[in-house]
Amino acid sequence: MRLSRYFLPVLKETPAEAQIVSHRYMLRAGMIKQASAGIYSWLPLGFKVLRKIEDIIHEEQARAGHIPIQMPTIQSADLWRESGRYDAYGQEMLRITDRHDRDMLFTPTAEELVTDIFRSYVRSYKDLPLTLYQIQWKFRDEIRPRFGVMRGREFYMKDGYNFDLTKEDALHAYNRHLVSYLRTYERMGLQAIPMRADGGPIGGDYTHEFLVLADTGESEVFYDSEITDLKFGEREIDFDNVDQCQAVLEEFTSRYARTDETHDEAVWADVPADRQRTARGIEVGQIFYFGTKYSEALNAVVQDQTGAQVPVHMGSHGIGVSRLLGAIIEASHDDKGIIWPEGVTPFHCGIVNLKQGDDEADAACEALYATLTALGLEPLYDDRNERAGGKFATMDLIGLPWRITVGPRGLKNGVVELTSRRTGESEELPPEQAVARIA
Ligand code: ATP
Ligand code: MG
Ligand code: MG
Ligand code: MG
Repeated sequence: MRLSRYFLPVLKETPAEAQIVSHRYMLRAGMIKQASAGIYSWLPLGFKVLRKIEDIIHEEQARAGHIPIQMPTIQSADLWRESGRYDAYGQEMLRITDRHDRDMLFTPTAEELVTDIFRSYVRSYKDLPLTLYQIQWKFRDEIRPRFGVMRGREFYMKDGYNFDLTKEDALHAYNRHLVSYLRTYERMGLQAIPMRADGGPIGGDYTHEFLVLADTGESEVFYDSEITDLKFGEREIDFDNVDQCQAVLEEFTSRYARTDETHDEAVWADVPADRQRTARGIEVGQIFYFGTKYSEALNAVVQDQTGAQVPVHMGSHGIGVSRLLGAIIEASHDDKGIIWPEGVTPFHCGIVNLKQGDDEADAACEALYATLTALGLEPLYDDRNERAGGKFATMDLIGLPWRITVGPRGLKNGVVELTSRRTGESEELPPEQAVARIA
């Protein structure tokens, strides 16, 4: 992409309404624009990162054997009356009436709708296990939308639902989700720690929230410092292998890690004092096993091996897709701007032409642009007629991992400058070597 032809409305001033760094940088880097309280338009740069995050989620869901679908944002109240949640959900639900006076709503989550799909088609245990998921806009009329996309009213969420014959099978689905989420967040350059969460009215031990540690997080968290040494990494995993998935669950959840909702001083006291950590965290996902709560309410039954009709065991599993942009920036930035992890960066590198209009500099930039593009990489070429200082400030703000700076003086010696956004270190190299370093 050539910056002269892109739409990157960078702000010089720090927007007064933004209280936390990710919100400030997303506005300044022209990634989002507020449309109304807690509702945002996604401008090209923000939209590009959102898509990258989405792609990673789809790839990891496919790896785990989960199947993508798309359900509508606007739903009829009828199913929600059947489950009992229409009245129970409260003021976070945006309720709408259509021209025929029918009660509709904007989906805050989709257990009812997906269970209705399931019960309409699936009759036999032979069709299980089944996990369906979607990435779709949700609406929750949050009492205090704030921090930009972190707590929006309209937000983008991955929500998945498993259907299994037995509790045991459903717990394997739970573990599978835990494993796939660990992989998903790591690919985004994030450490998201599974923490024991509150089952709420559903109860039970089977729910974990994934938290990214950050001072601006809304949850207070308590954890054993050993947990931050755990990494899923590149290990091979067979998602159908019950023992393997169970072992990962045990590895990642056996140490103390809880939010304030489930924090228990008596258990906490058993963690060695020098390993006790209290911090703040951002909830970027949650997994849940809730048994037959919805299948019983909505009569989602299958025939088991004995011919009996039994309600299926279910769970639901969410990732805060749009919130992740904020979380990633909170976890990775400096005082000049964002520092994108390689996995989600909107462009792989920036090319800064120090002297636009200089034949040699222009030609060298064009050649770099063509070579990088041919390698399947996406460069962002700042070909505008602007001061070098302004170009550098923009590149630092939008946080691409690499910058190649091209100017007549370096070119006389056959070199360009390659700068790492994360370390700030620069090296003078022939253009081919700079490309090789990035690729
Ligand atoms: P929170 O505790 O932050 O209100 P939640 O527990 O109500 O979140 P879930 O129902 O678990 O949310 O939804 C799954 C994921 O969707 C959350 O883990 C979070 O990352 C994201 N999410 C929830 N509410 C919002 C919101 N208002 N804006 C952006 N992302 C959200
Ligand atoms: Mg909430
Ligand atoms: Mg929560
Ligand atoms: Mg939650």
